[in-house]
Amino acid sequence: MTSELRDLYQEIIIDHSRNPRNSGQLETATGEAKGNNPLCGDRVTVYVELGDGKIVDAAFEARGCAISIASASMMTEHIKGLTVEQAQIAHEEFNNHLTKSEAPDLKQESELAALMGVRNFPTRIKCATLPWHTFIVALKGGADEITTE
Ligand code: ZN
Repeated sequence: MTSELRDLYQEIIIDHSRNPRNSGQLETATGEAKGNNPLCGDRVTVYVELGDGKIVDAAFEARGCAISIASASMMTEHIKGLTVEQAQIAHEEFNNHLTKSEAPDLKQESELAALMGVRNFPTRIKCATLPWHTFIVALKGGADEITTE
């Protein structure tokens, strides 16, 4: 990875963590779930509104590190408009990209690529995946708190 690209990725993460998109409650939510990453102290609530098998809207409330907030922000932007199946595939791909040994071949126009630098910091991977795990529980309508441990 070039240093310019790394700088760009860092800027995207900082921007999302300081100005999170879709932050706040979602009155129209059809499902919500809470996630907890005790290793870092990240807490996130993800709200999802489903309609016609699609994610009509999504929002989150989070307290935690920049990685977890940026990941939640990017995720809510990424999943809006996807079908349930597409969103589940996106979750699997995101997980695989962060945890598989070979480097991911990501389209660089996807902002999610900015989080791939987390691969180099194994203790932070759960910060990035927490919002996604929580989202999948919310998608299924569940409200129980999930934890990464
Ligand atoms: Zn964290």
